[in-house]
Amino acid sequence: MRGLIGKVAIVTGGARGLGAACAARLAEEGATVVIADLLADEGAAKAAELRDSTRQEILALPHDVRDEVSWGSLINEASGRLGGVDILVNNAGIAPNGDIESITLQDLREVLDVNLVGAFLGSKAVIPEMRKRGGGSIINMSSALSRKVLPFTCAYGMSKSALVNLTKTTAVHCARMDYNIRVNSVHPGPHETPLFKASAATVADDPHTAKINASIPMARFGRPPEVGAVVAFLASDDASYVTATEIFVDGGLSAV
Ligand code: NAD
Repeated sequence: MRGLIGKVAIVTGGARGLGAACAARLAEEGATVVIADLLADEGAAKAAELRDSTRQEILALPHDVRDEVSWGSLINEASGRLGGVDILVNNAGIAPNGDIESITLQDLREVLDVNLVGAFLGSKAVIPEMRKRGGGSIINMSSALSRKVLPFTCAYGMSKSALVNLTKTTAVHCARMDYNIRVNSVHPGPHETPLFKASAATVADDPHTAKINASIPMARFGRPPEVGAVVAFLASDDASYVTATEIFVDGGLSAV
């Protein structure tokens, strides 16, 4: 397709996992990509790898999505070096385990800070830049667990459900203001990334987790490029009338 030639995309948490798959696909479609991650070395290594494989300009910038100052620096540097920002993928996330009895307030605050406040700060920071470019696309990485309930991922599920509300309120605001900025959420089911492996390792004997995974209609876990493909679609002009919506990339899990 190569539908993103001339576009500049920021992917938070792009050093590994689903974020790296999104960065790869956006670059394959012709975008210049900024990998913005806490893991500076891993981000730089991923950027070098993608530069080689896609022949696109890829930057890696150290970034903490929880920090408003870090957002200011990231957007300034990306705009200064690349001329603007057209696409923001709010992908960085963490997933502490714990049910309502075992999860701590500190765990809850940490997961909300990364998964929800991070996307909130990113959206606030990028809207003025996108307006200068005449529009843009914000994609928030939610989860199938915004809809399916796993008692063991209580705080995580809360963060991903709240992210849906942030997505829709931001989308409707931008549409009513005629900013030409679309905002959508993507909802992966289980994908074998470092986050998933760390989480699944500690809940392997949790019967709810096993039952949910066994109930995926397509009877397999997702592959990270399958999320990258949906993100690239939402980022592109092919999705020009798609805003305030949720796309599940979960093999049908959310329907059963
Ligand atoms: P991952 O742990 O493999 O990668 C997450 C990346 O985010 C890492 O590179 C990490 O350094 C970065 N990150 C974490 N905190 C950050 C911060 N404060 N600032 C900047 N970067 C930070 O995880 P993943 O599985 O690739 O998950 C990516 C997103 O997809 C998350 O939002 C996750 O909730 C969501 N998701 C994943 C799955 C799955 O099965 N893997 C399913 C549904 C949703």
